[in-house]
Amino acid sequence: MTDAPVFPDSLCHRCAHLRVVHSGRGSMFLMCREPSLPKYTAQPVRACRGFTPASPRSGRSDPDGS
Ligand code: SF4
Repeated sequence: MTDAPVFPDSLCHRCAHLRVVHSGRGSMFLMCREPSLPKYTAQPVRACRGFTPASPRSGRSDPDGS
């Protein structure tokens, strides 16, 4: 498994609502935790009404997706 971000130019990577989910089969998904938006939206996201800047130290990668 690689730690290289998927869709590195996606706005989601700078958003507090992002959770990076790793599947057991080595895939990586960008999951949105903003309740009013779909959990898995088309990537890369270029503009989003739910965008909230993430703090620089926030850990958003969650291996088990919980
Ligand atoms: S709120 Fe928008 S920018 Fe933020 S993670 Fe969800 S889809 Fe991406």
